[in-house]
Amino acid sequence: MMPVRRRICVVGGLSAGPSAAAKAARVDPSAEVILFEQDDAISYGICELPYYIGGEVQKDDLVVLTPEQMQREKNVTVRTRTRIQNISPSRKTIEVHDLSKGETREERYDRLIIATGSSVRPLGLAGEDARNVFHVKSLDDGLQIARFIEVEHPTRAVIIGGGYVGVEMAEALRRRRMEVTLLHKGMVPLDHVAPETSDAVARRLGDHGVTFLPQTQIVAFRVDSRAAVAEVLTPDRTLPVDLVILATGVRPNTQLAAAARVRLGANGGITTDSRLQTSVDNIFAAGDCCEVRNLVSNRMMYAPLATNAARMGWVAGENAAGGRSTFQGALRSIALRVFELEVVHLGLTAAEARVAGLAPEVVTIKSTSRVPMMPGGKALCVTLVADRSTRRLLGVDVSGEEGAVLRGNLLAPALHHRLTIDDVRRWDLAYAPSFSPLWDPILVAANAMARKLEQR
Ligand SMILES: Cc1cc2nc3c(=O)[nH]c(=O)nc-3n(C[C@H](O)[C@H](O)[C@H](O)COP(=O)(O)OP(=O)(O)OC[C@H]3O[C@@H](n4cnc5c(N)ncnc54)[C@H](O)[C@@H]3O)c2cc1C
Repeated sequence: MMPVRRRICVVGGLSAGPSAAAKAARVDPSAEVILFEQDDAISYGICELPYYIGGEVQKDDLVVLTPEQMQREKNVTVRTRTRIQNISPSRKTIEVHDLSKGETREERYDRLIIATGSSVRPLGLAGEDARNVFHVKSLDDGLQIARFIEVEHPTRAVIIGGGYVGVEMAEALRRRRMEVTLLHKGMVPLDHVAPETSDAVARRLGDHGVTFLPQTQIVAFRVDSRAAVAEVLTPDRTLPVDLVILATGVRPNTQLAAAARVRLGANGGITTDSRLQTSVDNIFAAGDCCEVRNLVSNRMMYAPLATNAARMGWVAGENAAGGRSTFQGALRSIALRVFELEVVHLGLTAAEARVAGLAPEVVTIKSTSRVPMMPGGKALCVTLVADRSTRRLLGVDVSGEEGAVLRGNLLAPALHHRLTIDDVRRWDLAYAPSFSPLWDPILVAANAMARKLEQR
């Protein structure tokens, strides 16, 4: 008798889903692995969309894997334009809706991986669906924005939301020679980074002609006779506009999971154990639809990032195929480029540390990326957060035009392994005048932190 092949179904084909499907097929080559995606494309460079819109990346380069490559190279069957509408855990079936044919049927699974990701947060205002208002959440969004710019030649853009997508879009639209106004609800751009980083980003935006309006909520859109938003209204301003970008953040897509009684957490995402198994047998979850444990605070958080999605997909895929892999959590590692400025944040800010019941101390140092006499060196700013009582490193921010992100990433193992500031300051980092001062800025900051902790 032919052995029955394990059937592993993966819902969602962008970041976590393809990672999970490819891993499952590698771990159990005899399994039938099927990836379902409601849109036309899978596995494309969503993080590169602002760079595509800004003209730095070409459209054809956005596709990472086509469905055919996924089949041929990864042994995964892909069904695009196919939405999973319902899960029946008791029968181990899913309701599969073919959007092209308009047909729905039931299919069985042995293991199911939910990688349904996230959706944009609507503003709930009339005019939000006008023809010149766009999100930046899918390949289609990116293509539509690029087409709109080509055809309509907008000159005035308003971006709503000063998180990293809003900031990246501000640069992209400046590259397209538009006047850009960025509205943000907070005092400075970017949440979850040190104030020094936010300030550096705000200055850099201003230096490049982006008008940043802090603490500004939009109250209405004024739509003209061509069904386009002509003005964005805030409590104290009227902003004439040709193009509006909504970058107001995302929330987890959990409807499918919740209807199958998969447990959700306090942050709204699916909760899993460290094997990424949900509360329902044979159902795993990965990516933006999930909450993750913050490795520094040990608390659950919602951190929708490609890094987490890919790593979680890997673990969920391995375990769905019978492996024993674990995902311990994440640091909320954020990096971005704002014009020539690199910024990176890992771990907790001082404010987050306080909320987590820790006693944070903060140091900020200014240094350079090379020995000062070497030509081409750039200013670097390092902020460290450490716990006063245990001296454990809690967070790091680095900004500068050269080597900032790699320097910040250097401290990821220290956060993962709960090292103290004294561990870090003893590190033997390689040195040559072209790459750093003799004392690397990371070591300078660690020494400054150690001195500050001793003074207390
Ligand atoms: C413009 C932009 C820039 C970004 N830059 C970065 C960056 O620099 N670094 C970083 O770490 N992160 C970045 N991110 C975040 C990152 O893209 C996401 O965290 C990541 O894509 C999450 O992957 P995911 O697969 O979990 O979810 P998603 O990307 O949301 O994908 C989920 C997929 O599931 C499909 N789906 C949902 N429900 C169903 C269903 N019922 N049936 C079938 N299919 C379904 C959706 O159509 C979608 O394709 C960026 C995001 C954006 C929008």
